[in-house]
Amino acid sequence: MTAGLSVPLARSSSVFQWPVPAASLVTPLLQPFAGETLITILHTNDTHSQIDPLPDNDKSYPNKGGVARRATLVKFVRKENPTILIDAGDVFQGTPYFNFYKGEVEYKSMSMIGYDAGTLGNHDFDNGVDDLTAALKFANFDIVSTNYDFRGTPLEARVKPYLVRVVGGIKIGLFGLGINPEGLITPENFKGVKYLDPVRMTRGVVKLLREQERCALVVGMSHLGYYENPREKQFGDSQLAAQVDGIDFIASGHTHTFMQKPVLQKTPSGSDTIIFQVGKSGIYVGRIDFTVRDGKITAGAGRLLDLRDGSLG
Ligand SMILES: [Zn+2]
Repeated sequence: MTAGLSVPLARSSSVFQWPVPAASLVTPLLQPFAGETLITILHTNDTHSQIDPLPDNDKSYPNKGGVARRATLVKFVRKENPTILIDAGDVFQGTPYFNFYKGEVEYKSMSMIGYDAGTLGNHDFDNGVDDLTAALKFANFDIVSTNYDFRGTPLEARVKPYLVRVVGGIKIGLFGLGINPEGLITPENFKGVKYLDPVRMTRGVVKLLREQERCALVVGMSHLGYYENPREKQFGDSQLAAQVDGIDFIASGHTHTFMQKPVLQKTPSGSDTIIFQVGKSGIYVGRIDFTVRDGKITAGAGRLLDLRDGSLG
């Protein structure tokens, strides 16, 4: 494991820069020039009811993660500079906390940590729409889904198709993508919900966020998955970004991919979309820093943040 690499990224250039080792998890990845604003995006995915750190006898990640460490990290980073905290879905399922409390503990924890927004993964429907709606009463942050149509269901009033947040004076547009439920979600648990084509819906929402809302940053929370070499029918965030212009960053989820650093995907017009997924169970938090000047991104950098004993100094 070589966690802790910082990879400078240039928005409209594929020029590769050598990774530089970063110091503390709290240290900004970019130094803004005069007139620039630094924005940090922290993100998780597939936390799967992992409230406590992983057990000491875990073969791969003993005593890593845990919501207490994540809360401390977020608090420290927020003290440094404007920060937004998002999640790409599959908050539920994986430990007895979910079986006993049906999502209450997960959403209460995320509320206390200070999440700004999250989207829905297939496992968030494991107890059906009614129980998910009930659990969401314990979440004090926004749930965003751009391609699940909840009209006529109890989730209609709770889930937004997109979100605009102003952080550090910068307008950030957020959208959320859910996976095709076929074969993944029991139809009974998805009753009344319509799955809409992610490419079509993303094109529409990005246009709205750019042209109407005038967002400087457009960020997706996606549970489509990450497929570097997709097999037949596999369609994930790289394949999406290759077809849709105007997405700056996708916080990816679903495939439980432990990426060491973000990747760049070329969009149809030749610019780059950053994609990052941080495995599962809250072992890691992803961090992307952008500098913005006059509503335009001037630089981006990303790294993996490792939550273990001593990693927060
Ligand atoms: Zn998952």
